[in-house]
Amino acid sequence: GPDFRADPAAMAAAMDERTVLVVASAPSYAHGVVDPVTAIAAAAAERGIRCHVDACIGGWVLPYATRLGRDVPAWTFAVEGVTSISVDLHKYAYAPKGTSLLLHRTPELRRPQFFASAAWPGYTMLNSTMQSTKSGGPLAGAWAVLRSLGDEGYERLARDVFEAVDRIRDGVGEMPELAVVSTPDSTLLALTTDGSCDPFTVCDEMAARGWYVQPQMSFAGSPATIHLSVSAATLSHVPELLAALGEAVEAAVAAGPVTVDPAVAAFIGDLDPFSLSEEDFDGLLLAAGLVGADSADGAESADGAESGLALPQRMAEVNAMLDLASAAMREALLVAFLDRLTRPTRRSR
Ligand SMILES: *Cc1c(COP(=O)(O)O)cnc(C)c1O
Repeated sequence: GPDFRADPAAMAAAMDERTVLVVASAPSYAHGVVDPVTAIAAAAAERGIRCHVDACIGGWVLPYATRLGRDVPAWTFAVEGVTSISVDLHKYAYAPKGTSLLLHRTPELRRPQFFASAAWPGYTMLNSTMQSTKSGGPLAGAWAVLRSLGDEGYERLARDVFEAVDRIRDGVGEMPELAVVSTPDSTLLALTTDGSCDPFTVCDEMAARGWYVQPQMSFAGSPATIHLSVSAATLSHVPELLAALGEAVEAAVAAGPVTVDPAVAAFIGDLDPFSLSEEDFDGLLLAAGLVGADSADGAESADGAESGLALPQRMAEVNAMLDLASAAMREALLVAFLDRLTRPTRRSR
């Protein structure tokens, strides 16, 4: 929808007898907004379809937002029809990755997730997760972090992160070139530009000032954006962040628009990402500026990288080109790049 939330009517219309699961976000990663879970889950329940809430990034922090009196749309098991919820401890529980939770509404729904096998001469297997042998390190890390922070600690961290979000939102509100695309329900913000500057150039200019902000491509009618994942640790640095953002916008306005060579755009438009040959990939990487022209004859690039792949310092041109490409082509290009980056090459003597 226009507010970047899922459209419950469109979702209901798409549900049929082949639908096994309906998924809503709390919040969506790209725009930080919580979907209308109540309407989506009701439509699913009406048809006997399970409804999962992806609360990977919001699941640990939104309950505290509610406790702090913030306005959070309903997304939990309190909503009729929600059958499962995923929560990542490696986001706002500030724990190591590898201990994410998949919560089920009832024991019956959870049961098939457990695996037992006595059909061999060894011990009777009993696994509760996708892993067989379970990694103790991340569990111990998560346990220690949770015990150390505790409920009070998480409330304090939630207070800090939401104060940072509010200050950033207000600060951005004073920059005429930028706008928050949709009022954030959680800790993520997506910013658009008014056309006076290129969002990818703003990202480069932020990187040049020591801030890594994430470029997001335009997609299905939503514009290219600058993504911020705010954490409690951001709060004490908000003034610096806003100062850097102001400077980055000014530099991006001065730099002017990023253009993609029409020949390159046409080249990309003509290729079918599903049937690309090695030669197509090499041509694309060359056109994308992701590989040095000298790599064709096997010469080493200036930094000595034997693969000939030159990692560009500024990404705006590359991002602008990816922005023109279809989603499938973006994937194909980046996979081809990763593939070339990790191929062993023989050093020439
Ligand atoms: C982080 C996240 C996930 C899980 O991704 P990981 O790479 O495993 O951390 C899923 N959904 C959303 C919305 C997320 O933010």
